[in-house]
Amino acid sequence: MKSTMQESPLLISRILQAGTQLHAEQEVVTWTAEGARRTSFAEVGTQAAQLANALRGLGIDGDQRVATFMWNNAEHLVAYLAVPSMGAVLHALNIRLFPEQIIYVTSHAQNTVVIVDNSLAEPFSRLLPHLVTLRHVIVNGPIPPEVRAALEAAPQIEAVHDWDTLLGAQPTTFDWPLLDERDASSMCYTSGTTGNPKGVVYSHRSNYLHTMQVTMGMGFNQGDRLLAVVPMFHANAWGLPYAALMVGASLIMPDRFLQAEPLAKMIEAEKITGGAAVPTIWTDLLRYLDEHPTDTSTLRRVVVGGSACPPSLMRAYQDRHDIEVIHAWGMTEMSPLGSTAVAPLEATGDRHWFYRETQGRIASTLEARLVGPDGAEVPNDGESVGELEVRGPWITGSYYDNGSNSEAERADAASKFDDGWLRTGDVGSLTANGFLRLTDRAKDVIKSGGEWISSVDLENALMAHPDVLEASVVGVPDERWGERPLATVVRATDSLVDAAELKEFLSGKIVGWQVPERWAFIDEVPKTSVGKFDKKVLRKRYAEGELKVEVLD
Ligand code: ADP
Repeated sequence: MKSTMQESPLLISRILQAGTQLHAEQEVVTWTAEGARRTSFAEVGTQAAQLANALRGLGIDGDQRVATFMWNNAEHLVAYLAVPSMGAVLHALNIRLFPEQIIYVTSHAQNTVVIVDNSLAEPFSRLLPHLVTLRHVIVNGPIPPEVRAALEAAPQIEAVHDWDTLLGAQPTTFDWPLLDERDASSMCYTSGTTGNPKGVVYSHRSNYLHTMQVTMGMGFNQGDRLLAVVPMFHANAWGLPYAALMVGASLIMPDRFLQAEPLAKMIEAEKITGGAAVPTIWTDLLRYLDEHPTDTSTLRRVVVGGSACPPSLMRAYQDRHDIEVIHAWGMTEMSPLGSTAVAPLEATGDRHWFYRETQGRIASTLEARLVGPDGAEVPNDGESVGELEVRGPWITGSYYDNGSNSEAERADAASKFDDGWLRTGDVGSLTANGFLRLTDRAKDVIKSGGEWISSVDLENALMAHPDVLEASVVGVPDERWGERPLATVVRATDSLVDAAELKEFLSGKIVGWQVPERWAFIDEVPKTSVGKFDKKVLRKRYAEGELKVEVLD
């Protein structure tokens, strides 16, 4: 029997139209050197129509790729809505990638138009001569004449436009087309720690369903004021932009002001109620809040993900600032949200914290399974460990290949899928009620004497010491055991804590044979372009003898 239900495609243009009409009075606040700049959702809707008209005029009449090179701000939100809604494909360039990677992804995605923030126009102008597929540059905000001249000098560029002038000359309505919900809406490249970055192409449908999950999983509501620290150029800002439009929550966009002090000011001045960022941002902010009295009373709940959140950080926010930190897990390939750690209501005390410290419960629309090294499925008993595989409507089924990918790249891309499941490269356990506890990335797991040691467990245990600011643990070659953990530690200011004391601190928390013998104190843990501990760099520094390592018995 067929259903009697109507079929209407799940399109970004629905999020745009509903959000800007039903929640017209909500706003996007962009932080600037002079303070807050306010744009109502109604104005966002008008600008989206103007941008779509402008892009049509520049030749975007199908699924051409429109790139952005921008911070989180109102204009970036306009592009997020207008570009997919008109049938084109949004490609938010990660401004922190290495120049050669930006050149690669721009050409691989065949971007033709780019929108650039004025604060990034000068560095962008140096890349532009190499971005050979681009034809038009739209600059958001005023730029000095010499930067404009540098942009115009790139031989492939037909014209450089000013956002306000270009949009100001356009009609304020646009006839959003009825697209196929399976069509591409946007794309994103993984940061590619090995080889070229790999492209993921999202659809309208995948984005729509993902947005609904974000609002449920992160618990966002009408009237919330969300601080979107996680960049729009990285994994869709975890879905916050579309989620805010869908539920009618205002967005507070930090633009380039990502340091703890301005973030604290935004929380106080803009009465923030929620937000999302990687652990390093919350760590810096915690230190600031501890030292500078700030009114955070409106802030109930923040989401942290992208890398493992140290339990000590969650507890500190809860105990000292009455802010609930919700741990979330995902990846670019998953749009990105896979799980959020909201404890079951009946769990109290230690059980409550057990759940909160996991990476969260897998979203019910997704399926997850664990696969052991022999390829056999591992039980979901909360203890057995395997590589996590996922499938579902907002999980990629392949990587984007524009025909130029090499044989080796194709083979590498194919190896990330297992009979219709995405191999996440993350290793951990699953409880029977779907809570995921990651112990490592497959490539970071430490293999000592044939057993696995979780670098994440060691890091969390170390970061619970009051004198430890940050700790990163990597596997290093060992003659006897194959590999052993090396603990690299950043001490808190003025602390003189030493390796022996930290080793002692770990006893009772970590099984004896897993406790590291090798210790190094460093000034800062190296981070990747998206703020994760860069273990590749640490391993290299160790291999090249750059670290001063102390070995304890
Ligand atoms: P990349 O860093 O490769 O560009 P992503 O930013 O999409 O890609 O990162 C996805 C990876 O980040 C996951 O596979 C996982 O290893 C890690 N990650 C994300 N959230 C968490 C979390 N809460 N705890 C531990 N690791 C996480």
